[in-house]
Amino acid sequence: MTQTPAPALRSMLIDGRRVAADGPPLDVLNPATEQLAGQAPDATDAQLDAAIEAAERAFTTWRETPVDERRAVLRGIAAVIGEHLEELAVLLTTEQGKPLAAARGELQSAVHWCEGFAELDVPAEEIRATDTQRVRIRHVPLGVVAGLVPWNVPVALAMWKIAPALLTGNTIVVKPSPFTPLTMLRIGELLAQAHVVPAGVLNIISGGDHLGPKLSEHPRVRKVAFTGSTATGKRVMASAARNLARVTLELGGNDAAIVLPDVDVDVVAEKVFWAGFMNSGQVCVASKRIYVHDEIYDAFARRFSELAGQVKVGDGLDEGVSLGPLQNRVQYEKVVRLIDKTAADGEKFLVRGDIPEGPGYFIHPTVVDDPADDADIVRLEPFGPVVPLLRFRDIDEVVERANASEYGLGGSVWSGDTEAAERIAARIATGVVWINDGPRLAPDLPFGGHKSSGLGVENGTAGLLEYLDTQVLWSSTS
Ligand code: NAD
Repeated sequence: MTQTPAPALRSMLIDGRRVAADGPPLDVLNPATEQLAGQAPDATDAQLDAAIEAAERAFTTWRETPVDERRAVLRGIAAVIGEHLEELAVLLTTEQGKPLAAARGELQSAVHWCEGFAELDVPAEEIRATDTQRVRIRHVPLGVVAGLVPWNVPVALAMWKIAPALLTGNTIVVKPSPFTPLTMLRIGELLAQAHVVPAGVLNIISGGDHLGPKLSEHPRVRKVAFTGSTATGKRVMASAARNLARVTLELGGNDAAIVLPDVDVDVVAEKVFWAGFMNSGQVCVASKRIYVHDEIYDAFARRFSELAGQVKVGDGLDEGVSLGPLQNRVQYEKVVRLIDKTAADGEKFLVRGDIPEGPGYFIHPTVVDDPADDADIVRLEPFGPVVPLLRFRDIDEVVERANASEYGLGGSVWSGDTEAAERIAARIATGVVWINDGPRLAPDLPFGGHKSSGLGVENGTAGLLEYLDTQVLWSSTS
């Protein structure tokens, strides 16, 4: 077993320097033990203002910094994370709960995002060039960006905001969730030491529930890049509206996986199992409603349940653990209530996972057997290790059921006939549909939700444009 690191009081990154707590810090708990994982500063109003002012000052030079130098800074951030990957992975598991291998994977993904963004070009177009006129479209940075990040993937999702903001010439103030601030703060400490980012270009602050609203409604923030729940996303949009700040909202999801009868049941059941249960179901694009064709439903359910019973749940620092605890008590109690409500509604379970006495917010994988379409377990985003299998008989019927959701984030179709699966995928009303694959994302591909799953996209050229205003330069020869 890897040793739990001694809890430390972290500092924030403001104006290129480590900034200590000015007042009582926040306790951050290890969700596997409910012991202290570390402490984070609870930023005061003056510290928030200092971070915004530093970002605003840095913007005047950063926006003029040649893009190749900005690319080099992204690669520098990637190198710092890469050099300290093991230390950061242990800290991430300690505060977030995910198994150590998954924590390493998240940090590698953060490195990949910085390096991937460093390869992207900021678009510019020449529309007309004649003897008498030249018309070009430029895209210019906005100013100070606020990055608000949830607790399920705290480092990678912060990089989804930092990398595009910095590449496009904006500066940023990032605020991790109060449940998982430690790894991002540690990255800030390492960056302050390594001097790879000019002062004020990237600021990382932490704080309790008061801080998110103050950051998103700050009059000097020009854009809010938010990942989190749909309910909070609506509040963020309302507060950004006061200053007409731009918003990108990456919100909740209730992804459908549609499994056709021509699949290899054992192989696909295992892939879909992990698409549903990875990170203990705390993933926006996890498969949360699994529609299985009637002809194979029983065989699929057997294999799926077998896996649910076999998987090792425990402290992410222990060898061989595949699923960690729920990240925090609020989420744990929400999922326990949803499972109890599903039972009270008379729905049946293929597997009703153990919920051991504490310490630790552990819930073992739970699989619900063909519940009603209007059951809470089908309608709501559980964000935990509980997944319903649903029987279907007809393609039109399953497409309609998959689309009967307020959410529209992702989905998947599984079939031996890829073209047939693609035709079904095109009818699913979501921002991304995977065919014969679990959730996959890439820095060069736009990602964003339809309907209540979001507004705008992150990643790819389309994602870069969300950090830029458009400017037409129209010159005529006099
Ligand atoms: P949350 O909405 O509670 O919090 C997200 C972040 O916003 C945190 O940093 C929080 O402190 C901050 N915040 C809270 N209230 C705020 C306010 N009024 N103004 C500004 N900031 C505020 O989300 P969570 O519980 O941390 O994360 C789980 C949710 O995130 C799930 O619904 C999940 O589907 C969603 N999610 C979406 C994506 C995506 O890319 N679409 C990715 C990961 C998670």
